[in-house]
Amino acid sequence: MCEKKQDDIEAVIKKLQQGNQVFVTAEKNPGDVSPKVRSKNVEAGQKPDAVVVTCSDSRVPPEHIFSAGIGELFVIRTAGNVIGDFELGSIEYAVGHLGTSVVLVLGHNHCGAVAAAMQGHGHGYITSIVEEIQPAIAGEENVATCENRNIDNSIKRILQSEAINERINAGEVRVLGAKYNLESGVVEFFG
Ligand SMILES: [Zn+2]
Repeated sequence: MCEKKQDDIEAVIKKLQQGNQVFVTAEKNPGDVSPKVRSKNVEAGQKPDAVVVTCSDSRVPPEHIFSAGIGELFVIRTAGNVIGDFELGSIEYAVGHLGTSVVLVLGHNHCGAVAAAMQGHGHGYITSIVEEIQPAIAGEENVATCENRNIDNSIKRILQSEAINERINAGEVRVLGAKYNLESGVVEFFG
């Protein structure tokens, strides 16, 4: 295990945690969205600190939640933060080509996708989301537990990638879960 890489990973997680602490009481996002940072990220290329996989819920805006600006987060959003082939390919790209070392699966409370899966119905293409979540929460009636299990399920999907696993085993990448509280704005990090 490369020690420097471990330090880098810890630093990224700390930056996310500190950004969230700022967000909790902030009126505006202090993240850098200036023309200067726009240019820098084009000229030097993007080098995001973290992949954030989260829910499409409009109340869960990742750049704001972590006080992040342009070029800092590689964001993947689906209802219920479910992961299929496109999402997995996107994560492999960030980890393999952009050198991103942290993959954060950010679930949240009051998640409509988890609620739909608990109630057991969906229609049209929503069914595919419900069917992805249901096996992970089968038999569980506590909403918070179901939300946590859904986070774990997305992590499990990420770990299906051979390319990502190789980097985890080399100590170059860490995949972890977290949960965002809609009322308080606080992100609780798991593991
Ligand atoms: Zn949600």
